[in-house]
Amino acid sequence: MTTLLQRFGSARDAFTPSRLTAWPASAVNPASSMRSGAAAGTPKVALEDISLEYRTNGSPLLALDRINLQVRTGEFLCIVGPSGCGKSTLLHLIAGLQQPTSGEVLIDGEPVTAPGTDRILIFQELGLFPWLTVGDNVEFGLKLKNTAKAERKKKAEYYLRLVQLSQFADSYIHELSGGMRQRVALARALATEPDVLLMDEPFAALDAQTRDLLHDELERIWAQTGRTIIFVTHNVREAARLGDRVAVFTFRPGRIKREFLVTEPRPRQIEDPAVSRCAKEILEDLREEINKSLEQEYRISS
Ligand code: ADP
Repeated sequence: MTTLLQRFGSARDAFTPSRLTAWPASAVNPASSMRSGAAAGTPKVALEDISLEYRTNGSPLLALDRINLQVRTGEFLCIVGPSGCGKSTLLHLIAGLQQPTSGEVLIDGEPVTAPGTDRILIFQELGLFPWLTVGDNVEFGLKLKNTAKAERKKKAEYYLRLVQLSQFADSYIHELSGGMRQRVALARALATEPDVLLMDEPFAALDAQTRDLLHDELERIWAQTGRTIIFVTHNVREAARLGDRVAVFTFRPGRIKREFLVTEPRPRQIEDPAVSRCAKEILEDLREEINKSLEQEYRISS
């Protein structure tokens, strides 16, 4: 039987053919060297020795500890980790909504100091406006960018077509299902044409069937638009289904424990046996961290 997971400590070992390759965070990241030309290019997103400390009632809480991570243009990176490991904080730092205590976030080699239209954050609470139609919701971000009316309409139409909601342009949000609302949020984010989509557990509240459909849509749209996606989830199957690479975070403070390169051919399905096997391997690494987070919760509540 083919081995799906290989653990290794050097970039050379990464060339062993396998569908899922793992390496510890301390080892050289082979992802860039496995694709021609990528090694020489500037990464789309680079996190350089990022740490972030919160202060609550005067006590420090180290949420992220010396994170080093590079994401190449067009890559689909998934981040998994137990609740409280700093996944959302990391996305906020990349979005420029927060600044790290130390270290630097770089986009195309340039330091991030504030939010920018080149990055957009999509999360579970969609932030859609109930008083606007679907079309107007999609146009909203473009209005903020001072895009001319005719251009706004054209782009909204294009992106609504991309998420297969053209016929709902004049509907209001309350008339749509949960899955359709997620697609409106995706169309609205895509319409502003950001280079990087930061997705924070966007499908967590949806039923399994709707989520599977949205996985298919997201994969298709990603392939069609060539965007870079950083997708946070606690669902390892979702990560193995969607990601080119999966980074597993430790429980507090959040560090990268291990990275997995998923080379299963696309399009994938969540029920593919190979996806399940990849997910199982990733879960083995994650389980220890989930246990630590549960122990902490029990200590606090008892
Ligand atoms: P995750 O998304 O992985 O669940 P978060 O990034 O939301 O984790 O939070 C990481 C840690 O930082 C958690 O312990 C959380 O309680 C803490 N935290 C998050 N935001 C704040 C804040 N504004 N002030 C203080 N602590 C925070």
